[in-house]
Amino acid sequence: MAFTTLNPATGKVEAEFEPHAPAQIEERLALAARTFSSYRSTSFSDRAGWMRAAADLYDAEQPDIARVLTTEMGKTFAAAKGEVAKCAMCLRWYADRAEALLADEMVESPAGRSFVRYQPLGPVLAVMPWNFPLWQVVRFAAPALMAGNVGLLKHASNVPQSALLIEDLFRRAGFPDGAFSTLLVSAAEVAKIIEDDRVVAVTLTGSGAAGRSVAAAAGAALKKCVLELGGSDPFLVLSSADLDRAVDVAVQARVQNNGQSCIAAKRFVVVDAVAGEFVPRFADAMAALSVGDPFDSATDVGPLVSEAQRTEVAAQVDDARAKGAVVVCGGETLPGDGWYYQPTVLTEVGPGMRAYDEEVFGPVAVVEPVADLDEAIRVANRTSFGLGSSVWTRDPEEQRRCIEELAAGMVFVNAMVASTPELPFGGIKRSGFGRELSNLGIKEFCNAKAVRVA
Ligand code: NAP
Repeated sequence: MAFTTLNPATGKVEAEFEPHAPAQIEERLALAARTFSSYRSTSFSDRAGWMRAAADLYDAEQPDIARVLTTEMGKTFAAAKGEVAKCAMCLRWYADRAEALLADEMVESPAGRSFVRYQPLGPVLAVMPWNFPLWQVVRFAAPALMAGNVGLLKHASNVPQSALLIEDLFRRAGFPDGAFSTLLVSAAEVAKIIEDDRVVAVTLTGSGAAGRSVAAAAGAALKKCVLELGGSDPFLVLSSADLDRAVDVAVQARVQNNGQSCIAAKRFVVVDAVAGEFVPRFADAMAALSVGDPFDSATDVGPLVSEAQRTEVAAQVDDARAKGAVVVCGGETLPGDGWYYQPTVLTEVGPGMRAYDEEVFGPVAVVEPVADLDEAIRVANRTSFGLGSSVWTRDPEEQRRCIEELAAGMVFVNAMVASTPELPFGGIKRSGFGRELSNLGIKEFCNAKAVRVA
């Protein structure tokens, strides 16, 4: 089956690519292994030079790259340009810091000179999703390549142009051939690649179902695996919140990337004291968003990625409506070409409704009023996911309790959850395991070698 760019704004086929044949896959795996044997000994300064050259290409070609992202998955052009700029920033961040982050760590010991040395593992397979077609890949590749690993990318099937473009950018930046290769393969071929002796580890960003398959294959092959899975992040609005800011950020946090972000705020947990003001203001702001052509600079929310994705979101909302949820705004697909869905706010929701129990990957907010902080924390934690959480309060004691008690990989206070190179990114429970970014992310694919010289 060919890999196809199907424009979500029009439903039209823009480009098609043939999958790699077995011989091409073999060639890329062999090249990755060969390249690693020499690339692992390149200096940090060489790798940093190539990384900075890649960042310069991302900056210089920003509009062209962004056009590919918008055409392949429908994010607004402004968001796509922001994604390209963020990638350039992350490439430079690791270029500047990798050597210090991976320096030998001395350990005090009576038994002799002791230290930990961080060394690369080898070719790492990255299985990546379409929602941030560039950023998801760069946040794996920047630390992995700076550590001396080489990368193999199996990107989502609907973003083949992005997949090929990333490989091309690393090559043109000067990285040796095979330091970063794209494999145009289907999900069904992933397990076989994980089994291959030349692949030493795998990282997956995607759904729980894909995580289960990849973790099972990695387990069977006894290989390291990192999983970044879905989320149903709570957004807690407490009584001392700055409501003007909270409303603005709530909207942005829900509809960013047309509502298709793992760290989008999905459940709005609001204390009764402010729910009467917050909920109508939030719903009015959601209803006022402009939905349409992602290339139009006036558009706030573009289409969902595919017809299937829109059907899924509509089914989750319809299920809640049928079980008694109140649709405060939105709740309908938009007629005409493209896979548009109205920004939606649901209240009177609860367990047993799909929109409450599952991750909703679209511009749909679920609002749940609660009596107080204790109930807010209980409700926030009542989910099988544990990725991010955003808390709005000016009260230091409430902030302390949320930081301490929220069951999530990330807690952002008076701010929207975001991925940035300086902080570790990842979740607990069914949101996965392992960390990307920061000092922790670069060590995920390193051998922490214990050394003692007696
Ligand atoms: P997906 O269907 O799981 O796809 C993600 C990647 O996994 C794609 O490359 C896909 O390939 C591949 N894949 C799917 N099934 C597989 C299998 N059984 N074995 C091996 N590979 C498989 O997810 P998606 O719908 O594209 O992305 C949305 C999900 O990703 C959401 O749940 C979102 O929350 C999550 N996400 C998490 C993070 C995070 O950092 N925690 C970030 C972004 C997104 P094909 O395209 O060929 O099927």
